[in-house]
Amino acid sequence: MKYIVVTGWVMSWTWKGIVSASLGSLLKNSGYGVEIIKCDPYIQIDAWTMSPYEHGEVFVTHDGGEVDLDFGHYERFLDQQVMFENSITTGQIYQSVIHKERQGEYLWQTVQVIPHIVDEVILRIENVAKKLEDHRGSWAVVIIEIGGTVGDIEWPHFAEAMRQLDMNKDNIVQFVHVAPLISHSYNSEVKTKPLQHSIQKLREIGIIPDYVVMRTPSEVTQVPSEKISMMCGIPTENCIHCPDRKTIYQVPIDFELQWFDKQVQEWFWWEYAAPKFETWKKKVEVLMNPQKTLNICLAGKYTELEDCYLSVVEACIHAWVHFDSKVEIIRLDTAEVEKKWEEYIALFFKEHAIKGVVVPGWFGERGVEWMILVAKYARENKTPYLWICLGLQVAVIEYARNVLWLEGANSTEFGTTPHPVIDLMNSQKDVENKWWTMRLWHYEAQLNPSSKVSTLYGAASCIDRHRHRYEVNPDYHDQLSHEGDLRLSWCSPDRMLVEYIEYSHHPYFIATQAHPEFESAFLDPQPLFRDLIKASLQRE
Ligand code: GLN
Repeated sequence: MKYIVVTGWVMSWTWKGIVSASLGSLLKNSGYGVEIIKCDPYIQIDAWTMSPYEHGEVFVTHDGGEVDLDFGHYERFLDQQVMFENSITTGQIYQSVIHKERQGEYLWQTVQVIPHIVDEVILRIENVAKKLEDHRGSWAVVIIEIGGTVGDIEWPHFAEAMRQLDMNKDNIVQFVHVAPLISHSYNSEVKTKPLQHSIQKLREIGIIPDYVVMRTPSEVTQVPSEKISMMCGIPTENCIHCPDRKTIYQVPIDFELQWFDKQVQEWFWWEYAAPKFETWKKKVEVLMNPQKTLNICLAGKYTELEDCYLSVVEACIHAWVHFDSKVEIIRLDTAEVEKKWEEYIALFFKEHAIKGVVVPGWFGERGVEWMILVAKYARENKTPYLWICLGLQVAVIEYARNVLWLEGANSTEFGTTPHPVIDLMNSQKDVENKWWTMRLWHYEAQLNPSSKVSTLYGAASCIDRHRHRYEVNPDYHDQLSHEGDLRLSWCSPDRMLVEYIEYSHHPYFIATQAHPEFESAFLDPQPLFRDLIKASLQRE
């Protein structure tokens, strides 16, 4: 099998994920089969309980896995679903080795990091590779991104697994090492020593990188490739420059210009096939030089950290490119605002010339009351808005309180209420293990044929990913849908769970219990986001 292993150094956030996704998209667009795996050193089984402040958003795979945000980059760049088995964590590896030990699989052996833990890592990688190989034969490659940085205390079992993968004569493995070149503000010269040391560290464990990707600020136009080549024993043409860019979607183009993909292909003994990248390049051109600007408000409780709502922001980017415009995301932190007075919202929207609103999902009560006021403002002022997951629940609470006059209506997630319009499903109320109450999967929804959603999807049903616990309470379905403007548009095939709601007399109001942001790709914007931008542009 053919593998590309991507390692990184100095810190996380060196764009290892973007480098892996960019190489993947170049190879996929040249006609090869590609899978991307991420090995994460943490002890958790998945990213379920990770803090968004530390790790950014939790991405949800089609099969309900809660994974690192890099999976979002893989899917958006490759325009293909990446499944949960592609996420390998130290926790999963130890759990299954210990499970096997209890089953008696290692009788009379001492269970150790080498061979047992390392073998388990390799086994999981080979399972993904096998699927791809069965499907694409030898015209396929598995890219493996190793989380963390070279030399981390929780890193060696993954490094050793990569070394052993390379020792197997049936494999061709190329190693790509991503590292920043450091520069001082008082001296524009970039320094290569730290990078050299990281390569020495890799060599200590028996890995010799075939390529080095040098990350620099955008102003650095010259990189000392010859010097790095000489000091690290990597051919000059394999020293790839990857400067910061206005858009991450420029990275595959930068790589192609340096023939990175060509060298990778030839190393695998493939005859070079140039990637079909014309549409991609045109879209990047639009991103760099947009014709119009449009302000969209992103209202939520983690707004100060960009990565917390990464997929929502990226889905907006995909949609705006489609309309040759640039969307300025204006963040409204609903947890920070102290005085909950409605006029503030009107002022905020006016001051920032906001034409549309998107509200991402989250857990917990912080910021919700303020959000309900945003919902009221957008409903009454006919501002286009897209509400996701908790967003839908907030929109229902707002409607129940302010249109149906159900005083104190709320979600039971936030305490007791006389009108629990949002509640846990009955079947989940007695479940004690918190994780089992999560609704994590892609679920089908039957769409109301006269709904806007069904027109947008061009279908009678749709399938989207879910990550939540609470639902619109079925006891209130009739009241919500029969006494006014709100349309449930619709739900699970048994009609118990609401998937979408919309207002009939509103230019664009759609709320969904699902997470459509995880379905958007650079070349294929998600329809709900696309239409939000379209409706917002019409407000100009
Ligand atoms: N907290 C809500 C629930 O559990 C919404 C979750 C979300 O927005 N992802 O249902």
